[in-house]
Amino acid sequence: MTSVPAATSANRKSRPQTNLTVLRREQLSPHMVRIVAGGPGFAGYVNNAFVDRYVKIVFPQPGITYPEPLDLWEVRDTMPRAQWPHTRTYTVRWVDEAAGELAIDFVIHGDEGLAGPWAAAAKPGDSLIFTGPGGGYNPDPDADWYLFAGDESALPAIGASIEALQADARGLAFLEVDSDADIQAIAAPVGVELHWLLRGGVPAGASDLLVSAVRDAAWLSGRVQVFAHGERGYMKSLRDVLYVQRGLERSQVSLSGYWAKGRVEDDFQAEKKLPIGQI
Ligand SMILES: Cc1cc2nc3c(=O)[nH]c(=O)nc-3n(C[C@H](O)[C@H](O)[C@H](O)COP(=O)(O)OP(=O)(O)OC[C@H]3O[C@@H](n4cnc5c(N)ncnc54)[C@H](O)[C@@H]3O)c2cc1C
Repeated sequence: MTSVPAATSANRKSRPQTNLTVLRREQLSPHMVRIVAGGPGFAGYVNNAFVDRYVKIVFPQPGITYPEPLDLWEVRDTMPRAQWPHTRTYTVRWVDEAAGELAIDFVIHGDEGLAGPWAAAAKPGDSLIFTGPGGGYNPDPDADWYLFAGDESALPAIGASIEALQADARGLAFLEVDSDADIQAIAAPVGVELHWLLRGGVPAGASDLLVSAVRDAAWLSGRVQVFAHGERGYMKSLRDVLYVQRGLERSQVSLSGYWAKGRVEDDFQAEKKLPIGQI
C-alpha cells in the first residue's frame, strides 16, 4: 500500500483508544460479517449517544516496529506520518454494556484493502484496536417522517437508526445490496417501509438503483429527515436529488460518502478535506 495514513484533527481526549479482543465472528450474509468484540479493554470504552456512532480501527503497517503496547496517539506524536498505522472507519452496530460486548458489521468486498479482508479472516482472540467513537445523527422526534438511503456500508448505521425510531414512526428506507441473500433483518416500526434494491452482480458503486429509487419515490407527507450514506458517487447524485429536486434544507439532511469506488480510505479521507472532495 503506497497511500499515506490519513491525518486527523481528533486527539486522545476527543477520541480515546480502546483495545478489544475478538470474541466471535458471524457471517450475516454472503457480503457481510459481524465481529463481536469485548474483553478486559471494554471497561475503557466510552460510548456516545449517537445512533450512527463510528470508530477508527487501527491497522499497524507491516515491517514497522511500534512501541508496545500500541498507542495510536503516542505513535502520531512521535513517529513520522508515513509510519503511522492506517485507520478504517466503521459503525458500531450495537453495544451491550451488560455483556461487555460491541458489534461491528464489515462489508466483505474482495481481497483489496485492510479492514474487509481482516474481518473476513478474524478469529476469537484477535486484537481489535480503535479510537472513538464519533458520530452525529439521531432521529429527530419532531420530523413527520424519515428517509434512509444507503448501500451495504451504511446498513449498520441505517439499521441502528431505524431500530431507534419511535414505534409510530413513518418512513422509507432504500437499501442497496448485491442480492436477496444480503437482505438483513431490521426491526423496523410498521410504518417504515424497507425497499431492498438488488444489484444482481453489478459492482457496488456502479449501479444507479439507489439514486433512481430516491429520485422516483412517492414521498410521504410532511417534513422529512434524511439519513443518506454510502459510496461517494451515489451521495453526490443524491445531494442533487435532495437539495435541488426536492428542495430540502441542510438541517433536514445527514449525507456523506462512506467510501469511494477505486480509492482506499486514506486517499478518500484526505480528499474529503479538500474543496474538490466535499459533497
Ligand atoms: C462514518 C463511516 C462509517 C462506516 N461504517 C461502515 C460499516 O459499519 N461497515 C462497513 O463495511 N463499512 C463502513 N464504512 C465504510 C468503510 O470505512 C470503507 O468501506 C473502507 O474503505 C473499508 O476499508 P478497507 O480497508 O476494507 O478498504 P480500502 O483499503 O479503503 O479500499 C480498498 C478497495 O476496496 C474498495 N472498497 C472499499 N469499501 C468498499 C465497499 N463497501 N464495497 C466495495 N468496495 C469497497 C475501495 O474503493 C478500494 O478500491 C464507513 C465509513 C464511514 C466514513
